[in-house]
Amino acid sequence: MNKETLKKNLREIPDFPIPGILFYDVTTLFKNAECLQGMIDELYEMYKDKGITKVVGIESRGFILGGALAARLGAGFIMARKPGKLPAEVVEETYAKEYGTDTIQIHKDAINENDIVLLHDDLLATGGTMAATYRLVKRCGAKQAFVNFVIELKGLNGRKAFTDDVEVTTLLQL
Ligand code: IMP
Repeated sequence: MNKETLKKNLREIPDFPIPGILFYDVTTLFKNAECLQGMIDELYEMYKDKGITKVVGIESRGFILGGALAARLGAGFIMARKPGKLPAEVVEETYAKEYGTDTIQIHKDAINENDIVLLHDDLLATGGTMAATYRLVKRCGAKQAFVNFVIELKGLNGRKAFTDDVEVTTLLQL
């Protein structure tokens, strides 16, 4: 996928959700048919030979490409959600945020020891959300796990939330 095309179609919203924050709005990438197809194609090429059995998408923007990619790879799809959303028994990880903490959950029976997992979300900022989800997936016994984001905010150095053995890829670096 051409990075300039992605960049051109990514909408930036100043002062959202609070003053001083520049929010990268990926809905405009999902809305554009060329971008949507291009991102799925690129991700498929990157992961088609890794033996992925499950894709884990992080609520909620990680569900879009995560679901499409899982279907394309012939893998299952797992939702990682905020507390109170998943109906069956869950396992969870709590992680530090700038102010306070947050928690991410998956169903207890979502992952097993035969799974090779691709974790996917729209954007890498500090890496806290994904690192917690990665720990959760590993705790569930996954054989191997890969990490992918559409966008990486390089200035925040979110890659340092992961140990060197974790393969982290991103489609667009800003
Ligand atoms: P982190 O845990 O600090 O890496 O924050 C990443 C999480 O916050 C992801 O789930 C993103 O969806 C969300 N996020 C943070 N900033 C943005 C943004 O500018 N655009 C879209 N999502 C964002």
